[in-house]
Amino acid sequence: MKTTRLCVGLGFDAHPLRAGRPLRLGGVTIPSRRGLVGHSDADVLLHAIIDALLGAVGGPDIGTLFPDTDPKLTNVDSRSLLTQATRRIRRQGVRIVNVDCVLVCDEPKLAPHYQCIRESVATLLKIESSSVGLKAKTCEGTALAYRSRSIAALVVALLEMPSP
Ligand code: MG
Repeated sequence: MKTTRLCVGLGFDAHPLRAGRPLRLGGVTIPSRRGLVGHSDADVLLHAIIDALLGAVGGPDIGTLFPDTDPKLTNVDSRSLLTQATRRIRRQGVRIVNVDCVLVCDEPKLAPHYQCIRESVATLLKIESSSVGLKAKTCEGTALAYRSRSIAALVVALLEMPSP
């Protein structure tokens, strides 16, 4: 009988907000007067998802696979980084079961965009949108979101691995 085992991975990322940048979350452009700053498009959610997936298979982290010193990755669309990462883990026979995501974000309000972001992430991961959990948490003025100057993401991913 074919057996499998389940592995979890945890991802975290944070980027600062700045005026005049597009805000990309989960591959979706969110209307906002400020966007995230980074070497790539700074899609903090996709970056945390990538690290969760890679972590579950004991792989290298996102910074090792896609270093921010690589000029080819300047302003790169993080959807392409996620696609490369999922190809890498699927080559190992891995099935993505689900991801659950928390965005630490005081502004903009993200609840109106939950479904769009979930569907975008589901499409990228080739799973059902019901397998993508997403919620945004405000920090009530604490330092976690640094007075609305940043957005952070935490992601846990569950993967089904083929048994050796
Ligand atoms: Mg990042």
